Amino acid sequence: MKERGPELTREGERYPSRAQDLAYLPGDPPAPGEGRRIADGLWWLRMPLPMELNHINLWLLEDGDSSCTVVDTGLGAEECRAAWESLEVEPLARRRLARVFITHDHPDHMGLASWLAERHHAGIWMSQQAHESSSAFLRMEPTDVDERTRAFLSAHGLPSPASSDPPRDHRTWFGGIPPLTHAPVDGETLVAGGVTWQVIETAGHCRGHLCLYDPERRILVSGDQVLPSISPNVSVLASAPDSDPLRAFLDSLARLEACDPATLVLPSHGRPFRALHKRIADLRNHHFEQLARVEEHCREPRSAQEAVPVMFGRVLRGFHRVLALGEALAHLQFLASEGRVSRIAGADGVARFVRI
Ligand SMILES: [Zn+2]
Repeated sequence: MKERGPELTREGERYPSRAQDLAYLPGDPPAPGEGRRIADGLWWLRMPLPMELNHINLWLLEDGDSSCTVVDTGLGAEECRAAWESLEVEPLARRRLARVFITHDHPDHMGLASWLAERHHAGIWMSQQAHESSSAFLRMEPTDVDERTRAFLSAHGLPSPASSDPPRDHRTWFGGIPPLTHAPVDGETLVAGGVTWQVIETAGHCRGHLCLYDPERRILVSGDQVLPSISPNVSVLASAPDSDPLRAFLDSLARLEACDPATLVLPSHGRPFRALHKRIADLRNHHFEQLARVEEHCREPRSAQEAVPVMFGRVLRGFHRVLALGEALAHLQFLASEGRVSRIAGADGVARFVRI
């Protein structure tokens, strides 16, 4: 089979827009443990990640002279704690970390929330849904999570995958669930250092994902909802097997189009860029192309596992197979909800989808 380029990471599939289309912010990213000031009272921070995607961006919002808010935390891992310890020397030396704002419930974004909350007596802001889903995941016995995952995967044509489960260190990467100080909702504002940020809730990559938008300076903290070189993973999960996350994701992209066209996008991975609307169009087209491929493939009844090769065109291993299957199912369930395919329960227990 022909290899069609992009790699998968836990965040999604590599799918860059053309660099000349995105107008990246000039200059280098900050080194881990250092900050780069990119606007008044706004700092870009980076944490190293011990995985395929080797970094996450955090954003420090000065909150007056003596305190600040950080958006996301890095992973519950030694590399990230070490980077924080050097940030505490500078630029945090003269400012108290008063608030941790978490965009969503993935471990690279919230894994040090408990640690920071204790260390700095910081309040934790994250959506109720993100807090509940991460708490529910960590409350489950690992063997129950495995069992649920295996049942889900085999119902979609991927029987007993060898070493395809999320790695065990996934749990320690979460670093515990901190008590929630405040659960912001869509449309609410967060005021930091005289800047009023609007909270925009999005979905599809995960439930209860929060972005922050400063309409005055036209800056969007986009979390993982819009990334410059990755098409964020949009997966049906074993915890919500009948959901339609692709519809939620596309609806969320449409909502972000209300942001000014000149907006500076601060993504969680990759470099800040302008041309939000171009990136949204590229991401949307990518999904439309994937939908067309999958629909065509469903001339014969196909399981989600059988749809994976037409979407990803490469041999996948380990946990990537789970991510790819979830994403294939998201496309199939979107097509089903549009009435373009119908779902058939197979005598072998595997769900298949066929074009109508
Ligand atoms: Zn991420």
